[in-house]
Amino acid sequence: RAKAELDQRICYYEQEMDEAARERRAVAKDLWTAIETEGFHLAYQVQKSVTTGRTTGYEVLLRWNRPGHGPMSPADFIPIAEECGAIGAIGAWVLSAACREAAAWPEPHKIAVNVSGLQLAQFELVDMVKHVLDQTGLAPHRLELEVTETAIIADRKRALAVLSNIKALGVSIAIDDFGTGYSSLDTLRSFPFDKIKLDRSFMPEVEHDEQAKAIIRAILALGKSLSVPVLAEGVETSAQLDVLRAEGCTEAQGFLLGRPGVIDWDGMRRSA
Ligand code: C2E
Ligand code: MG
Ligand code: MG
Ligand code: MG
Repeated sequence: RAKAELDQRICYYEQEMDEAARERRAVAKDLWTAIETEGFHLAYQVQKSVTTGRTTGYEVLLRWNRPGHGPMSPADFIPIAEECGAIGAIGAWVLSAACREAAAWPEPHKIAVNVSGLQLAQFELVDMVKHVLDQTGLAPHRLELEVTETAIIADRKRALAVLSNIKALGVSIAIDDFGTGYSSLDTLRSFPFDKIKLDRSFMPEVEHDEQAKAIIRAILALGKSLSVPVLAEGVETSAQLDVLRAEGCTEAQGFLLGRPGVIDWDGMRRSA
């Protein structure tokens, strides 16, 4: 009886695996179509100084309205794009569209573009960045690339070499989702990052959890001693912002300060 039960459970499991694989293939197919038809667009989320409230830049976030399905989160489709090889073309589109749009802004704010680990593993990324800057006329200091630690882990030496070459162009490099990886300190030691982005998973707890607050305090101290500014991600409440300010965090990003979207230039000027 136990054997029959087990067989049945394995059967369900395999059916589910099949379905998941089919779904991923369908998403991959739609992603390739979206590349051909320019089916993506960009949203921008403001980053602000915690002390002055001034805008320090905008993170570029990829948006995709999957035909017949509605908006799909990049957290869900980027891994599939990496798996099916579409990430190269998508990453190239994001970089060039973001630089082109930002070059036409009335205010010369910085933009922060997310880069996948697979892009980092290729020296072509250096040429692509150089080419896009030349073509769009965006000043290199207005571009920042956001990379995660997991992106660097795959081929560490090569990733760090690629980042060095990009930094030499005058582009800055931020480490994204900091505090969630497992070799954070080693990664910080091996590359001169321009910014540390504190992962948003810390935020819900900072108001009432002393432990979370202690970790944030330690990361801020680390940033300070390395002279690397720390930006807190996912700030949703003014109580969270108060804690960050009290602890000496310099920059923040999150729904409290602005949701990702199109930039209202007039509104921005009023709040700047
Ligand atoms: P990320 O780089 O850490 O981006 C921040 C994510 O947090 C965004 O989700 C943003 O909408 C969300 N967020 C911002 N403020 C808040 C807040 O106050 N509360 C909460 N709960 N969330 C907040 P999004 O746009 O869904 O992107 C998810 C992830 O997908 C990004 O995480 C990034 O890893 C990846 N991604 C987005 N665009 C691109 C891209 O162009 N290329 C690559 N390779 N990855 C991208
Ligand atoms: Mg990011
Ligand atoms: Mg992040
Ligand atoms: Mg993230």
